Amino acid sequence: MKALVLEEKGKLALRDFEIPGTLGPRDVRIKTHTVGICGSDVHYYTHGRIGHFVVQEPMVLGHEASGVVLACGDAVVDLKPGDRVCMEPGIPDPTSRASKLGLYNVDPAVRFWATPPVHGCLTPEVIHPATFTYKLPDHVSFAEGAMVEPFAIGMQAALRARIQPGDIAVVTGAGPIGMMVALAALAGGCARVIVADLAQPKLDIIAAYDGIETVNIRNQPLAEAVATATHGWGADVVFECSGAAPAVLHMHELARPGGAIVLVGMPVDPVPVDIVGLQARELRIETVFRYANVYDRALALMASGKVDLTPLISATVPFEDSIAGFDRAAEARDSDVKLQIAMPE
Ligand code: ZN
Repeated sequence: MKALVLEEKGKLALRDFEIPGTLGPRDVRIKTHTVGICGSDVHYYTHGRIGHFVVQEPMVLGHEASGVVLACGDAVVDLKPGDRVCMEPGIPDPTSRASKLGLYNVDPAVRFWATPPVHGCLTPEVIHPATFTYKLPDHVSFAEGAMVEPFAIGMQAALRARIQPGDIAVVTGAGPIGMMVALAALAGGCARVIVADLAQPKLDIIAAYDGIETVNIRNQPLAEAVATATHGWGADVVFECSGAAPAVLHMHELARPGGAIVLVGMPVDPVPVDIVGLQARELRIETVFRYANVYDRALALMASGKVDLTPLISATVPFEDSIAGFDRAAEARDSDVKLQIAMPE
């Protein structure tokens, strides 16, 4: 079976590759249909590592996937062959303390697709636990199904923020995750979400949604724009999604007294934080690492029509051209949000 294999930093190959594994009683075998290219996949391709996760052996990329169930283990009751599904890529140890607390995303033993040494899903078939495989509602397409994974991070951020109806939020950074966070915040009850970035094409894409306002920080200081929008009071929630040091240093200036900061973006290196600035407004700080228990909620929002992620799909490339797709993703064009790979029929 062919797979998209990261042989080493900077070198991809589309070649025969068997991922070891057998169908256990609680597993399903899935024919992959659509796989999104994530910033982390691209980062492994271009840098060979993310923090202490280092690619040491050839690894199959991809973790944002939808597909069709081919076969079910004997103990699987909720799924059957032919079901259209999407897959949650992080598998924790169900007996761990973190899992028992409902925090399975921070289980130290979690095995996450395309995070060394675990192989991803850019291969025509995968075996996956049924409990981390979700049926797609009838009107949710395979392409949207492959968007649930990045949207899940937005859902986690919105849940951590504890949004109140009518809140005003700010999102710093209009990458794919910043956009997902903005849409989840709107769905979670924010009246207005102000999204800030330097890249106008990205801002234009997200500005097409009702309830989103944009600020190009090349043209206007963000603190000034937020002060104007909130009559000098500040935003109820600030979602830091850029990971950029200046944004982190100044994030407290955007929040109202007693508001919340949700740290979503991941700076490559440690960055300075203005502790006194945070204290002086008694801001609540939340952090987000992936997500837990949000797939059902995400799919419910997509099925209801409250969240439409299709405008964020910039292009779909066939599996045979997936290396070119990765090269395009590595260019990080400002007009691209999400690139997806259509797996072989
Ligand atoms: Zn991802």
